[in-house]
Amino acid sequence: MGSPPSAFLKQNNTIFLRFLMILLFGSIPDKANVCSNRSLASPSVLLGQSSSHILPLHTIKLDGNFHFDSIDSAAKDFGNRYHFLPSAVLYPKSALDISATIKHIFDMGTSSQLTLAARGSGHSLQGQAQAHQGLVINMKSLQGPETQVHTGEMPYVDVSGGKLWIDLLHETLKYELAPKSWTDYLHLSVGGTLSNAGISGQAFRHGPQIDNVYQLEVVTGKGDVVTCSKKQNTDLFYGVLGGLGQFGIITRARISLEPAPKMVKWIRVLYSDFSKFSNDQESLISSKNSFDYIEGLVIINKTRILDNWKAAFDPRHPLQASQFVSDGRTLYCLEIAKYFNPEQSLRAYFQD
Ligand SMILES: Cc1cc2nc3c(=O)[nH]c(=O)nc-3n(C[C@H](O)[C@H](O)[C@H](O)COP(=O)(O)OP(=O)(O)OC[C@H]3O[C@@H](n4cnc5c(N)ncnc54)[C@H](O)[C@@H]3O)c2cc1C
Repeated sequence: MGSPPSAFLKQNNTIFLRFLMILLFGSIPDKANVCSNRSLASPSVLLGQSSSHILPLHTIKLDGNFHFDSIDSAAKDFGNRYHFLPSAVLYPKSALDISATIKHIFDMGTSSQLTLAARGSGHSLQGQAQAHQGLVINMKSLQGPETQVHTGEMPYVDVSGGKLWIDLLHETLKYELAPKSWTDYLHLSVGGTLSNAGISGQAFRHGPQIDNVYQLEVVTGKGDVVTCSKKQNTDLFYGVLGGLGQFGIITRARISLEPAPKMVKWIRVLYSDFSKFSNDQESLISSKNSFDYIEGLVIINKTRILDNWKAAFDPRHPLQASQFVSDGRTLYCLEIAKYFNPEQSLRAYFQD
């Protein structure tokens, strides 16, 4: 540790940049400023002003552009605990913009120690998408490639790494298709969750989001734009998936799709007994043909928020609802869903 989160370092004589390893949530001590011990490039180095043979960043020919002022938002994330101000933010329009920038930094040599981080939605908790005095790449500004849905027996979509999952869903629904594996919250970027894992209630059936990717386009630490998959540039493919941005920047992903359910029956079941809750969850997950979405939650109800769930009780049993007092208790919730087509009876969906 002792290195800035989500920044990768340039090394002249390795195939890729040597990326700093970041351990996911909880691995960074609570109050440590993980950047404090590093001597990093000054903004003037970033701009290329300290070296006669290096041209400043803003001389790179781009479709997008760099911002050097008003870049405070790139020093914030969802966790709101780490604030590492970069020296510049790149707003790329294409993978080539990212490639040209990384090549430029690579050519500056190791002495600049310049750090670089991709930023999707910035929903990291511990500064993983920040780069202290370095360069942040705002992936949401990436305009290409256009989202392209491919129908057929094995449908898939080609999508930009900066696209939000919610927007991707709207695109695929036009073809009555949807990705198989999700996160609960959909205003996260494709590249951001594929750099972690992407887990929700479909993972027990389809695996996490990183198990449902056919191909990636990645800008490597040398600035090369490389296509990789299970069969092509395999090490890069598996390094980048779940790699926290340390092995390259995802500029395009080919994601597996399935027919979108026409209707969904959504059920929440509350438990006060952990054993009953976990037994039910295990039995539902191991049953071959039960539900399409199964997720378990532990809820410590300190805010009485669960009392609103009284509405979930059968209105024919008002007594049950009135007896439901959740405040201060630890409860367990199974959230389950069954996809179905209203033209078929629900019974046809539960065969065992
Ligand atoms: C409210 C909330 C709900 C969440 N729900 C879920 C959930 O249900 N399931 C789940 O699995 N996770 C969940 N998460 C965690 C979330 O998936 C991760 O934090 C994810 O990284 C956020 O995506 P982002 O676009 O905000 O990424 P960022 O925070 O912007 O980036 C995350 C990491 O990925 C890197 N990165 C970003 N874009 C790229 C790219 N294109 N190429 C390479 N590296 C890149 C960054 O440098 C950084 O290291 C949730 C987080 C929050 C705050």
